[in-house]
Amino acid sequence: MYILLMGPPGAGKGTQAERLISDFKLPHISTGDMFRAAVKAGTAMGKEAKKYMDAGGLVPDEVTIGIVREGLAKPECAKDFMLDGFPRTLEQAVALDKIMADMGKKLDAVLNINVPDSELVSRVTGRRICKECGATYHEKFNPTKVAGKCDKCGGVLYQRDDDKGETVLNRLKAYHSQTEPLFDYYRKAGIYKEVNGLQDIEKVYQDVKQALGKA
Ligand code: ADP
Ligand code: AMP
Repeated sequence: MYILLMGPPGAGKGTQAERLISDFKLPHISTGDMFRAAVKAGTAMGKEAKKYMDAGGLVPDEVTIGIVREGLAKPECAKDFMLDGFPRTLEQAVALDKIMADMGKKLDAVLNINVPDSELVSRVTGRRICKECGATYHEKFNPTKVAGKCDKCGGVLYQRDDDKGETVLNRLKAYHSQTEPLFDYYRKAGIYKEVNGLQDIEKVYQDVKQALGKA
């Protein structure tokens, strides 16, 4: 299956992706994770991307489409993949269709995890991530057993720079103005699905599996 996970920052895409990866071994391509890895590695692309990420804006399409094109060409993505956080603009969506058509593939489903803005700010500001394995927690909604330490690997938790202050609001603005219009694009293609993300994590997961025909 070739699927997209969509939804605003903090909707729970990464949280649901962790479960889908563990149960169905779906290769996961998260453009946010790829950019954070490039920033950490200090590459030229990482330095360029960081400027946009720190401001809560989108990295230019040209750069983003390039990394996805490379990611999808990997052998492990031949049969299945789950894209998370891409596409975020109409130009990226059109480019994805073209990349996939060139490979003789097409998207099976676009799943929007729907959560209102009023809930997103507290989700994003309370998000904590393991430095070692990347697992996602929330200080109130999904806490670790031992404060500050990952349940899975014992790694130290950190807060993303862009999960603080004004940046969060800018990310929500970018989402509403640039990404939300894509829903119509996928509705027209007949592959758009939506789940209610304003439920506890396990209930959302049941609905995600149902929507993807994997329940
Ligand atoms: P996204 O990848 O869409 O930005 P995450 O999966 O990182 O979102 O989730 C954002 C934050 O909200 C994390 O701290 C996560 O633990 C928490 N979270 C995810 N799903 C839920 C949920 N259904 N209810 C409450 N908190 C959630
Ligand atoms: P995320 O981890 O999905 O919340 O993404 C973190 C940041 O990376 C975003 O706020 C953007 O600056 C950048 N980013 C991730 N995916 C994309 C994309 N598809 N297009 C442009 N910028 C992106």
